[in-house]
Amino acid sequence: MTVLSMKNLGVAVAEQQILHGVDLEVASGEVHAVMGPNGAGKSTLSNAIMGKAGYQITSGSLELDGQDLSTLPTWARAQAGLFLAMQYPTEVPGVSVRETLELALAERSSQEIDVQSRLLEEAEKIGLANELLERALNVDMSGGEKKRNETAQLAVLDPQIAVLDELDSGLDIDALRACAERIEGMTEQGLGVLCITHYHRLLDYLPADHVHILVGGRIVESGGPELAVELEAEGYSRFIESDDESEGVSVAIGGRSQQTSSSISEADDPFADPLA
Ligand code: ADP
Ligand code: MG
Repeated sequence: MTVLSMKNLGVAVAEQQILHGVDLEVASGEVHAVMGPNGAGKSTLSNAIMGKAGYQITSGSLELDGQDLSTLPTWARAQAGLFLAMQYPTEVPGVSVRETLELALAERSSQEIDVQSRLLEEAEKIGLANELLERALNVDMSGGEKKRNETAQLAVLDPQIAVLDELDSGLDIDALRACAERIEGMTEQGLGVLCITHYHRLLDYLPADHVHILVGGRIVESGGPELAVELEAEGYSRFIESDDESEGVSVAIGGRSQQTSSSISEADDPFADPLA
């Protein structure tokens, strides 16, 4: 049993405080969905977990099975059992996915793994064309191909905990189902998942045990899967503009009004500028 734990996690980037005390615990076999409007800090959370340069932990703790992750470089976090499927997978000219995984697995264990066979097996399950396995990592791949590629890497690397940052963006409906069902299969083998998404659709195939709403760098509500359905119907407005101080929402958001200005229509618009 593995537990990724964040307590009162504060994260700043470019001298701006983005996350204001996030509490979250993801254990083996669990699926936690994090939903929230654009600019809420979802990718910041995933980058801070993985230790991307520039994302500074300003308060609280980030631990994997009680081990402090905050001082570890990204590769050591990966070796400890974390994986991040990036919102915008990086292109790496000159290195194929097979070579990448061979090196990663050789670092993790002395056990010989036939990466090529494992990749072919996984590629078939999620409909990733074989010729892409020899192409430079993510170079000239469509958005959907990149996300399938991330899923194949996840399945071959077989981490303890996976963070999926908008795995569904760029995937067509069949690919979404194939990738999500593959990951759901991995959760049955013990994978813990932190799944960042805007849409309930992904959770149809990768059902969440817990849903958390992140607004303005804070988790403003947590609940069961019904929360994701509610959100898709109602949007985030009640979290952004609540006047009911007893809910603590307007207080929580007030400290960061500048960054909570992204409107509900923006969050719902699949064509909105993802960097906005
Ligand atoms: P989300 O993924 O929820 O849409 P992000 O975590 O990407 O939100 O961004 C949250 C805020 O942090 C945004 O205002 C964004 O501009 C800012 N931010 C994130 N990463 C960086 C960075 N590397 N440099 C400057 N600002 C950043
Ligand atoms: Mg993001």
